[in-house]
Amino acid sequence: MPRTSETPDLPQALTGIGGTALGVALLRAQESRRPDRLFDDPFAERFLAAVPDGGSPWAADRTSGASSPFTAFHRLVADQVAVRTRFLDDALLAAARDGRTQVVLLASGMDTRAYRLDWPAGTTVYELDSADVLTFKRTVLTEQGAAPRCRCVEVSADLRQDWPEALAGAGFDPGRPTAWLAEGLLYALPSEGADLLLERITANSAPGGFLAFDHAEDTDALRAARAQVAPELVALWQGGPGEPGPWLAEHGWAPEVEDVAEAARGFGRPAPPAFDPDRPGSARGWLCTARLTA
Ligand code: SAM
Repeated sequence: MPRTSETPDLPQALTGIGGTALGVALLRAQESRRPDRLFDDPFAERFLAAVPDGGSPWAADRTSGASSPFTAFHRLVADQVAVRTRFLDDALLAAARDGRTQVVLLASGMDTRAYRLDWPAGTTVYELDSADVLTFKRTVLTEQGAAPRCRCVEVSADLRQDWPEALAGAGFDPGRPTAWLAEGLLYALPSEGADLLLERITANSAPGGFLAFDHAEDTDALRAARAQVAPELVALWQGGPGEPGPWLAEHGWAPEVEDVAEAARGFGRPAPPAFDPDRPGSARGWLCTARLTA
């Protein structure tokens, strides 16, 4: 999509660390161009096209050469994003078809699942992110004539504040079984921040609650690749909760945890390089689903 007078200036939220949402869109656009793609996200490319040249380093390497620092970083994580997107597509759809027609996408960024997936009738998807990010995304999608395939409700909120109140204010009903998604988020939280997030999810979950997320360790190779992109990105990884299975169990959730390398194999893909157990110095990466036990 060429930029038009309707396209909002790139919000500050997408020029700083929040620009990682555009980095994910870039990788989804690349995956969508593959003949053997694991999913098709036709909107990912549109978000990138709406970013002015130089507007975000995260969208920049769509035109740059193979030697860009982004390329080195993306080579390490691209397959993780592709595999996790498909895994979480499948997990959320199954949860909704199993009766959890209330879905919450925490830190939704450029997630277009509300527009891409074949939701069962009566599904409401809440997209929670900063107002700027939500506005940018809505404007681009509206210009494309995109229509959500469910009831889609934006929730402008800061995850460091009382976001459950904002969610309830938007119509969310904690008494209904909910499918929660925290994708591309946990690694950016300190462990106490991850605990608080899960405590709030749990407190707002009715019996039958479902949760899905990805998580990964950091490594020297990932830190070095991020440092080449921008020094402030090194500190973006805060560690999150540690090993996800025990963490979920401690909070009253029955976990199912899959190694991302194994999930990749299941989709006929090689292990993502950063998370390939056969490579020295690789990280552990997980794809997780969980059901509320109480
Ligand atoms: N979940 C999306 C995905 O996987 O495509 C986006 C992931 S992106 C790596 C991280 C997102 O977190 C960005 O959209 C950013 O705006 C959002 N975010 C970061 N800090 C936040 C906060 N304190 N409150 C709400 N959203 C936040």
